[in-house]
Amino acid sequence: MQYHLNGFRAGDPELHPAAREQGEVPEVLDVLIVGCGPAGLTLAAYLAGFPEITTRIVERKAGPLERGQADGISCRSMEMFQAYGFADKVMAQGYDVRETTFWKPDAEDPSRITRNGWIPDVEEGLSEMPHMILNQARVHDMYLEVMEKSPSRLVPDYALQLVDLVVDDGAEEYPVTVTLERCDPGREGERVVLRARYVVGCDGARSQVRRAIGRELVGDSANHAWGVMDVLCNTDFPDIRRKSLIQSAEEGTLLIIPREGGYLVRFYIEVDKLNEGERVKSRNIQVEDLIGAAQRILRPYALDVKDVVWWSVYEIGQRLTDKFDDAEGDVLPHVFIAGDACHTHSPKAGQGMNVSMGDAFNLGWKLVSVLTGRAAPDLLRSYSEERQAVAQDLIDFDREWSRIISERPEGAGGDAPRFQEAFIKNGRYTAGMSVTYPPSALTGGAAHQGLARGFAIGARFHSAPVVRLADSKPIHLGHVIGVAARWTIFAFAPEEDRGLPGGAIAGLCDFLGSAGSPVLRVTPEGADPDAVIDLRAVFAAGVHDLAYEEMPEGLKPRKGRFGLMDHEKIFGTDPARDIYAMRGIDRAEGALVIVRPDQYVAHVLPTGDHAGLAAFFEGVFLSAR
Ligand code: FAD
Repeated sequence: MQYHLNGFRAGDPELHPAAREQGEVPEVLDVLIVGCGPAGLTLAAYLAGFPEITTRIVERKAGPLERGQADGISCRSMEMFQAYGFADKVMAQGYDVRETTFWKPDAEDPSRITRNGWIPDVEEGLSEMPHMILNQARVHDMYLEVMEKSPSRLVPDYALQLVDLVVDDGAEEYPVTVTLERCDPGREGERVVLRARYVVGCDGARSQVRRAIGRELVGDSANHAWGVMDVLCNTDFPDIRRKSLIQSAEEGTLLIIPREGGYLVRFYIEVDKLNEGERVKSRNIQVEDLIGAAQRILRPYALDVKDVVWWSVYEIGQRLTDKFDDAEGDVLPHVFIAGDACHTHSPKAGQGMNVSMGDAFNLGWKLVSVLTGRAAPDLLRSYSEERQAVAQDLIDFDREWSRIISERPEGAGGDAPRFQEAFIKNGRYTAGMSVTYPPSALTGGAAHQGLARGFAIGARFHSAPVVRLADSKPIHLGHVIGVAARWTIFAFAPEEDRGLPGGAIAGLCDFLGSAGSPVLRVTPEGADPDAVIDLRAVFAAGVHDLAYEEMPEGLKPRKGRFGLMDHEKIFGTDPARDIYAMRGIDRAEGALVIVRPDQYVAHVLPTGDHAGLAAFFEGVFLSAR
C-alpha cells in the first residue's frame, strides 16, 4: 500500500482526506444508485474514490443487512476484493472452502448415506485466491467501510425508495428525473425529486428501475424452491465442516455449507419444483419442515439443531433481460440495471452475489472514464453488450447444473453421482473464471496471443508472483491493480533485456515519453504520469541480476505535490515461481500485456509494437490535451 505521497499523515492510511461531507440529497447529481445489495455497493464503493463525481446510493430498507441471503464468494470475486483492499479481511473472517465431499445412498442399505469421496474445491493454480464463504451482510459492511473512508465519505441514504423514473433523451445534462419517497417512520410518503446524468438500478429481482425502462426478466415460468437455514447445531455427521453435496435415495438433496466462525452451518434443502404460477408461500413450509428434511437426508447421522439464525424458502427461476440499459438505436444509455435486476440464478451454484458484483465492477470504471472526460459516452454501451452475454452463459450453466443436482440417484452404489462429475467439470464456472469478453474496441484480436499464452485476451488477468526490484518484496503482480479506473501495461522484457538503453523496455519508455505517446495523450495536464495508464515492467532476470540505478526514468515516475519518485513499477522474476514459465511468456520476444481497469486482459502486443499500442488506446480514450 502506498501513502504519504502528498505529505505525512498520521493515523489510518485507509482513511482518505475528505473532499466533502455528504449533505442532503442534492437536486442534481452525476450518478444515482438504487439499492444497497452487493451490486449497488460494489458500484458505490468504486465511484466513492472519485469525489469529482457526485454519487448517491439510496436503499428502501432502514439500515444495513445483518444476516441471511448469499454467502459464497468465488475466487474471481476475491480477486476483485483484492483491488478494493479487503480480500485479506474476508480471508481472516470467512470459511475457506478447501474440499467438497460427495455423499450418496449406501449400496447395502439405501436408507443410509455413505461418502463417495472428496475433491479439491478449486482446481490447482486457478487463482491465487481461495473460494470463501462469508455472510453477504459482512461483505456489505466491508464495502460500506471503503465508502465511509473514501474522499467522498459516501454513506447510503436508507429508508428512501425510488418510486418513479423518467428519461428525457433530449435533455443535455441531467436526462433522468427520479422521484424518491421516504419510508422511515414519521416521514412516510415525503418525496424528493432529483435529476441525474445516470441512474443504476441495483434494486434486485423485482427492480422498479428495470420496469421503468421497459425491460423484462424472461425465463423459466416455474420456479425451483430451496429451503435455506443458517443454524448452530451438533451432529455426528463427519463432514459438517466440509462443503458437502448429499443425495439421499428417497428424501432429496442437501447441500451443506460450513460458515464463518467455526460453528455456524448453512443447509440448502431441496423443496419440490413448483407448478407454473405457483408461489412457495402456498406450500406453507416452516423451518421445522426444513430441519425434519435435513434429519431424514442425513440418516444414519443425527442432527440436533440448537438455534436457527436465519431461514428462508428461496424461490428462484433462471431469468434474464435482453438488455441491461435503456439505449435504443442511436440513443445513448442513461439508465443501467445490474445484478438480480437483470438476471436471477438458483442459489446452488453460488452465482447470484458474485455475478452481481461482477456487473458493477464492469460498469464502475466505464462511468468514471466517461464522467471524467477520458472516454466518449459511447463506451457505456459496452456494459450491456459484455455483461448480458456473461449472464446468458451463466444462466445456461446454472440451468444445467440445477437439473443435475436435482436428479434422483441412478441407483445405490456404483458410479459417482452425476453431480460429482459435473462439479469437477464446471469448476471454472463456479469459481467465476469462465468470463471471456469477445473482441471489441476494449478487447483486441488474438494475432499476438502466442507471446503470452497464459494471459488469454478477454479473460481476467491471471496473477502470478514476481519480486519487486526496489525492495526485493515478493508480490502478486495482479495486486497492483486497484479501483482507480486505471489501465495497466505490463511490459514483459525479452530474456536478455536488463532495462539498458537499446533494449525493448528502454525503447518502450522512450516512446511513452515522446510526442506520439498514448500515455501522454490521455493524461490530463498536471495529473500524475500513471493516473490513467500505469506502466509496469517485469524482467526475466532475478532482482540481483538487475540494476535499479540503470532502469529507465519512465519506470520511476515523479508524482504528487513534491514530485516524489514511485519505486514500485519494476519487477524481477522469482526463480522458484517463474512468471514467464507459469504464464507462457515468450522469452526471446517478451510481450506487452494491456489490462483493463476491471482486471481483464485487453490486448497482447509485441514489445516493439509502439504503433499498435497507440492505435489500441486511440480506440478507448479521448485526448486529454
Ligand atoms: P439485492 O441483494 O436483492 O439488493 C437489492 C436492494 O435494493 C435491496 O437491498 C432492496 O431493499 C433494494 N431495493 C429494492 N427496490 C428498491 C427501491 N425501489 N428503492 C430503493 N431500494 C430498493 N443467494 C444465494 O446464493 N444463496 C441464498 O441463500 C440466497 N438467499 C437469498 C434470500 C433472499 C431473501 C434474497 C432476496 C436473495 C437471496 N439470494 C441468495 C440472492 C442473492 O442475495 C442475490 O443474488 C444478490 O444479493 C444480488 O445482489 P443485488 O445487489 O443484485 O440485489
